[in-house]
Amino acid sequence: MELDLMMPITRVRSVGTRSAARLAKLGITTVRQLLWHLPTRYEDYSDSVPIADLVPGEKQSIRGEVVAVSSRFIWPKRMTITTATLRDASGAVRAVWFNQPYIEESLTEGTLVSLSGKVVLDKRGLSLSNPLYERVGASEADGVGQLRHTGRLIPIYSETAGVTSKYLRFLIQPLIEQLKLPDPLPESIRREYGLPELVSALTAVHYPQRLEDAALARERLAFDDLLLLQLKALRERRQMNLLKSVRVPMDAVHMKGLIQGLPFSLTRDQRVAILEVLKDMERPYPMNRLLEGDVGSGKTVVALLAAMHAAREGHQTVILAPTEVLAVQHERTLRKLLSGHPEIRFALLTGTSALRDGRPASKAAIKRAVGSGAVHIVIGTHAVIRDDVRFPRLALVVIDEQHRFGIHQRATLMKAERHSSGLVPHLLSMTATPIPRTLALTVLGDLDSSIIKEKPAGRQPVQTQVVPSSSRDRVYEFIRGQVREGRQVFVVCPVIEVVQQEEQSHPAGRSPRQGKLSALWAQVKAVQDEYAKLSKEVFPDLRVVMLHGRMKSKEKQEVMHEFKEGWHDILVSTSVIEVGVDVSNATIMLIEGADRFGLAQLHQFRGRVGRGGHASYCFLFPTDDGAASARLSALETLDDGFALAEADMKLRGPGEFFGIKQSGMPDITMEALGNPVLIKKARAAARVILKADPGLKHNPLLAAQLAAMQSVVHSE
Ligand code: ADP
Ligand code: MG
Repeated sequence: MELDLMMPITRVRSVGTRSAARLAKLGITTVRQLLWHLPTRYEDYSDSVPIADLVPGEKQSIRGEVVAVSSRFIWPKRMTITTATLRDASGAVRAVWFNQPYIEESLTEGTLVSLSGKVVLDKRGLSLSNPLYERVGASEADGVGQLRHTGRLIPIYSETAGVTSKYLRFLIQPLIEQLKLPDPLPESIRREYGLPELVSALTAVHYPQRLEDAALARERLAFDDLLLLQLKALRERRQMNLLKSVRVPMDAVHMKGLIQGLPFSLTRDQRVAILEVLKDMERPYPMNRLLEGDVGSGKTVVALLAAMHAAREGHQTVILAPTEVLAVQHERTLRKLLSGHPEIRFALLTGTSALRDGRPASKAAIKRAVGSGAVHIVIGTHAVIRDDVRFPRLALVVIDEQHRFGIHQRATLMKAERHSSGLVPHLLSMTATPIPRTLALTVLGDLDSSIIKEKPAGRQPVQTQVVPSSSRDRVYEFIRGQVREGRQVFVVCPVIEVVQQEEQSHPAGRSPRQGKLSALWAQVKAVQDEYAKLSKEVFPDLRVVMLHGRMKSKEKQEVMHEFKEGWHDILVSTSVIEVGVDVSNATIMLIEGADRFGLAQLHQFRGRVGRGGHASYCFLFPTDDGAASARLSALETLDDGFALAEADMKLRGPGEFFGIKQSGMPDITMEALGNPVLIKKARAAARVILKADPGLKHNPLLAAQLAAMQSVVHSE
């Protein structure tokens, strides 16, 4: 009979409620999850030898009969030692276990047993030290039949309290032995890519004959997940292309006029990007484009030009920023760009501020104006999308720093009912975290991308230095000198993780919200402490100011504004300044606890300086000197965000890198996300499958898996 993979684990023989609860800690609640709990490594005990051939220092396996067994307790060491003597046709050997007195009960005299362990030579001769053991029947002792725990490549799993590898083998092995499962992966695809069939893959991954078989099996299982992700992306793309969007005809003369009105000339990459965006927007189906560009490469102006162009025919654009500070900054930039264009109306709408055409207005009035189509460009935080704002003429949605937004927030925005016409807006996402294209396709779906590589003219490279604690004072002196010359300084405090500890010290009655709040407080405290230290002890002579999450939004904006205007020398803040803030006179970025941040993120911080004509510096202060790892020094030499992102992804793994670690994506998929070759294969396979069978009618198993995956994503 076929195994029902969705069967709860409790229905597996010999899993009681206690074990089920423990297994749940490993994320195992169904048979599928048990079978897909893959070994983290294998112990190689496949070297089975006659006892006479044991070699000291080797890991070997033997089979024989127990001829004597005894335990004794050694008082000074508080330790039980169990010793058994094993015999086969070639000779006899001792096996010794520490603190496992129960072994004496199960390996009584006369038992046939298989042992795997390290061979040790001491003054009493050869022995096996703490070997794995399993009782075997007469036929197995002859080398026939299946061994689970000894005499072969033994799977080692990630364990948790009460769930040992041995227990997992005990559960998994019988399932594997009788495994019957249909294979969702079409045979033609398997053949094309040389991938094993599902049951053999599962068998080989848990009980491989050779390590190569296990590796190929893993690849096959990872391929399954990647294929689903690709099928999903391609189908969504197909569905998107069936949707209708406003066509915004390109008007080259108008665009040229807008570009000439800019205070600078665009880089070539910016020109290409804007052209690509405008071409997409001419189409009757929605654009789905990712604009990638290093920090400071000038993505904002590309988005604003597209919005201004759309406004020409009265179309609306929403620009979403991940933070209030950034939304306010975009509004200011836009206001300047629009000074010569009174016909284009715009508004700012965030949690706490509301401006219409640059002047304070009530939120209600702005929403009404947007709803009547009288406002063309709305800049806001996601409060805008949560609220009941209607956009009757929405043509374009821009998501800045898209990685900051959850997948479902993006989905909400794209919903057609957001505006009455039934048309779906064009979508432009922007990110400063460069993503390899294959990976973007997998994680973000099938989208087009524009890349800005070239930086605007006159950008200074930022001299970067990892600073040992002994040089701290020297750096402070250097900073003082820079400030005297009129420059400004950012100081970033590290992220502090307290949620974990909180949960442990208050096991009951603590909501995640409280956890979040206390994390926020810890952050605030870090900023306040650093502020106190810098303003009172280190730089009493300079103007130091701080910015943190417990300040009123108005206060925050004031501080940012004042800093931009040069009223303060040093701004101490949490990582909120990471995204987008633009202060061209700031030349120094000092990062405390730098080792707590990812490279890509540090690079983003660094991108906050080096925007004016002055030489700029980034100082990385690790938590302690030992933490100044090779990781941080990569920043001293690499200035290219793409290269750094790749290094970062290699170091931290794609899960951490994309913040999808908690997304429920299985480890094996995570692993596969770092394997572009496999992603490419999966993508090609998905195309082939969908070409022949667009509705997946002939691949019902794949269709079912896809549906299951979608429901997981939606319930997030
Ligand atoms: P990011 O890509 O990080 O979002 P921004 O769009 O904030 O970068 O641009 C950073 C700064 O560069 C802004 O002050 C912007 O006005 C300026 N800028 C953008 N494009 C150019 C250009 N072609 N020449 C000179 N300065 C530019
Ligand atoms: Mg930006």
